[in-house]
Amino acid sequence: MAEKKLMNAPENIAKIPSTLHANSPLAAQAADTFDQLGLSIDDRRGSDLPVFSPIDGSELAVLRTDTPAEVDAMVANARAAFAAWSQVPAPHRGELIRRYGALVREHKEPLSLLLSIENGKILTEARGEVQEVIDICEYAVGLSRQLFGLTIASERPEHRLTEYWHPMGVLGLISAFNFPAAVWAWGTTVALVCGDSAIWKPSEKTPLTALAFAGLLAKAADEYDLAPAHLIQVVVGDARCGTAIADHPDVAIVSATGSVRMGQDVAVRVAGRFGRSVLELGGNNAAIIAPSADLDLALRGAVFAATGTCGQRCTTLRRLIVHNSIREAFVQRLIATFATLRIGSPLDDATHVGPLIDRMAFDGMQRALEQARAEGGTVHGGERLDAAGAADAYYVRPAIIEMPGQSAIVREETFAPILYVMGYDTLDEAIALQNGVSQGLSSSIFTSDVREAERFQSAQGSDCGIVNVNIGTSGAEIGGAFGGEKVTGGGRVSGSDSWKNYMRRATATVNYSASLPLAQGVKFDLDIDP
Ligand code: NAD
Repeated sequence: MAEKKLMNAPENIAKIPSTLHANSPLAAQAADTFDQLGLSIDDRRGSDLPVFSPIDGSELAVLRTDTPAEVDAMVANARAAFAAWSQVPAPHRGELIRRYGALVREHKEPLSLLLSIENGKILTEARGEVQEVIDICEYAVGLSRQLFGLTIASERPEHRLTEYWHPMGVLGLISAFNFPAAVWAWGTTVALVCGDSAIWKPSEKTPLTALAFAGLLAKAADEYDLAPAHLIQVVVGDARCGTAIADHPDVAIVSATGSVRMGQDVAVRVAGRFGRSVLELGGNNAAIIAPSADLDLALRGAVFAATGTCGQRCTTLRRLIVHNSIREAFVQRLIATFATLRIGSPLDDATHVGPLIDRMAFDGMQRALEQARAEGGTVHGGERLDAAGAADAYYVRPAIIEMPGQSAIVREETFAPILYVMGYDTLDEAIALQNGVSQGLSSSIFTSDVREAERFQSAQGSDCGIVNVNIGTSGAEIGGAFGGEKVTGGGRVSGSDSWKNYMRRATATVNYSASLPLAQGVKFDLDIDP
């Protein structure tokens, strides 16, 4: 095996500057996490990428971003790693992921804390995200023994027609801030058992979480003889690093999760060089509340889906389409329930809703509220709260906005806790509203009427990648293919048969007869001397 050089080995990870410990207790806690994981990020220390905690706006670390030349070198290293790793039998590749899953399980609590400090989601959701990483490891280990192809009936006698799946190459994974670990793990653990090497460009807002999760994987690889050097590497930086990955001819697969605007740029770049892209982009998810629905269930489902992760999930419920016969009463219950939400530090177990990621998110939310008012909306909530006593932390009360129709602002994804409510009279009308946006990620219906539930899931129903009945739009399980249609990008990062995104297919025909019949009965008789 080639000399092992880990991307996050002690020589290239920056310890959080100790000078910050005194000023920010959160920075100290983050530093403790790295200590508990046995990782150092010293080599990442720099001056061009400050990292903040949304909890109180304090600076956690200042990192150094990677240059395009460094990205280029990482891709070359990843190519070399791929050449070695793709020859390791898949079940042995799974062994690396099994070991990694055990490490994440062992360190679940510090990893959850770091994730919460850097991203701001409440601890129970952070623990859920780490659990998702553990779950996908187990899924990928099982998958490492199930990467099967088909045997297809041949039309020719004594011929065998088979499909094989082979490792594809280097995976370049670009991820968003809101799921700073799980989305990477969905793609990377599966790609690794498929025989690919991987480069990760996390959000510039959550690089510490990335260095922690990837650092543990590097540790697992270091202790595993079959894993080559540079099997997974982290690129620290902003969109420019993402562009370098999207443009690189040696990155076989680009898996990009983030905004539609980012996807539009990445898709064109990757298509321009005939690379493969897997795009997981913005959503604008709706739930229909039918008159027959269990309204208590619907209320619980709607409130969690609309306000969980402070409205910063791609699957967040953004539009509620309520039957006019129950709309007014349901909205009153929603308003009353939103008023009971405890908004504050995500590290406090009693908190329901933590902060927005940053000022930009807050400004975007306020602009959307203004526009909704201008478009005839009645706004309940949405104001800023001084939950942390910190000028640079952005806590808000989730907003409910009663809208007269599906106007321009309702058709946009505002990445904040805003729930637009509209009324409907017939199911056809509700489905038309649900489908009447450019995004196509997640959808749900609350109903006790089996005909409505089935129609919603049918080809004439929701046009989304995720179609739920009697649960909210968020909180998908890892087993099902995850992703959406239309401007959501059409990609499926993980679940079901999406492992095929990380492999290439070869169709093989073997003739074990003594003759050479041609397909489709084509005749091509030759006079050949025996
Ligand atoms: P974002 O688009 O600003 O950034 C996402 C990532 O893309 C970051 O790593 C960023 O540096 C990089 N990036 C940005 N522009 C790029 C470009 N032109 N080329 C290459 N890389 C680029 O998104 P965000 O604010 O971090 O996340 C919120 C968005 O992500 C929302 O729209 C949300 O719906 C979406 N999201 C979708 C899914 C899904 O599975 N469909 C999951 C999570 C988040």
